[in-house]
Amino acid sequence: MLVTITDKVTMDKIVSLAKRRGFVFPASEIYGGIANTYDYGHYGVLLKNNVKGQWWKALLQERDDVVALDSAIIQHPRTWEASGHLAGFTDPLIDCRVCKRRFRADKLEDAVCGQKPSKQPGQGPDCDLTDPREFNLMFKTQIGPVADDGSVAYLRPETAQGIFLNFKQYLQFSRKRPPFGIAQVGKSFRNEITPANFIFRTREFEQMEMEFFVPPDEAEEWHKYWCQTRYDWYVKLGIRPDHLRLRPHDPDELSHYSSATSDVEYLYPGSMDWGELEGIANRGNFDLTQHAEHSRQNLEYVDPSGARYLPHVIEPAGGVDRAALAFLIDAYDEDEIEGETRTVLRLHPALAPVKVAVLPLVRKDGQPELAREIVAGLREQMQAEYDESGAIGKRYRRQDEIGTPWAVTVDHRSLEDQTVTVRDRDSLTQERIPISQLPGELAKRLATPWRSPKLNA
Ligand code: ATP
Repeated sequence: MLVTITDKVTMDKIVSLAKRRGFVFPASEIYGGIANTYDYGHYGVLLKNNVKGQWWKALLQERDDVVALDSAIIQHPRTWEASGHLAGFTDPLIDCRVCKRRFRADKLEDAVCGQKPSKQPGQGPDCDLTDPREFNLMFKTQIGPVADDGSVAYLRPETAQGIFLNFKQYLQFSRKRPPFGIAQVGKSFRNEITPANFIFRTREFEQMEMEFFVPPDEAEEWHKYWCQTRYDWYVKLGIRPDHLRLRPHDPDELSHYSSATSDVEYLYPGSMDWGELEGIANRGNFDLTQHAEHSRQNLEYVDPSGARYLPHVIEPAGGVDRAALAFLIDAYDEDEIEGETRTVLRLHPALAPVKVAVLPLVRKDGQPELAREIVAGLREQMQAEYDESGAIGKRYRRQDEIGTPWAVTVDHRSLEDQTVTVRDRDSLTQERIPISQLPGELAKRLATPWRSPKLNA
């Protein structure tokens, strides 16, 4: 049996694979690490680039009503006054007077008194808890050499506000009018009190956000449209539909600015259960109203008939790290080949860090030279890797673990008749084709709509 479905994936396996193969690992390790902070290694960078690339492709390349922005991380501090973050971007926190730890009041079940780990979390008799206090999640910093009130600034807790600040500029130079969107990808920072679950919740993370500006009476329709469109994006890139859901927020969950929000949620393994990948909110005209008031600028749009209005905004806001994690988990599989367990990432080829590996069967007889020539040609077209060290089976296994969809093997026959074999990561079939047809064949395979073999199992 070659391909089997597995429900054996656990977070431990993902964390260990991510470290072993250099996708993601704890940051500052030579100093003993820094809590819940991670660095992305070579394959992690390639994977995240592909996630972001697919997001940009869906919004910029495949449609013409969205334009791009890359705004500053540190904006004018009044931005956060207007957006409501300064006053309201808080978590209610409870301190334990014994172990000095802080817990989120709404997540006390996670709390374990550090001094008395054997006691009941949070409420144990040895925990001496304070009343909840509001704690702002924004990271404070200062601009310039003088530390006074006038120099306080904040690292952005979301990329969205940079978009609202530039709305007027975009009306002038982008030649777009509502309905249209401004999209941005970049780092955001939140002083999360309970970061957890690997890269699911960290203090520094990347967001992919778009503000889609629409005439007020079209907001509800566009909200529905973007919920479905964003859900479909994850499915198209290989997430199993039974691991994905769109969950509308209950009225008491909604942010003050939102009239409707739905989250795209992924079914993470184990106790993590359903967790948010992306939120799609109908923000009304809250943000533009706030920034117009605080900046005393007129941010209204004047339509061709002369009518003025503040557009309403639909915001799909996703996390690059959470998406990358979900793609890794959903791709993880184990099967058996010749009595041995193989770990394989069945990543969508568009997301796979490396598209093709070129491997000489042996390190002699001109095979390495020919393989290097082939890989050099393929590099023009796609991320390709050359590997000549170790037994061929081991090298296949290594590529399987990083999710490389195809491996090209150069053997003794290749030198005689200029053909190579192409091994498929999922079906394990090996097809012999002329070297001259390789670029075309791989391009064709990359362009073919992909369906996870896990869905057939
Ligand atoms: P949560 O409820 O999980 O804290 P949120 O609703 O506050 O998330 P948003 O403000 O809607 O999150 O941010 C949009 C997206 O940014 C989230 O869907 C998530 O993918 C990502 N994100 C938010 N906070 C973090 C974090 N601390 N670490 C990693 N990704 C995050």
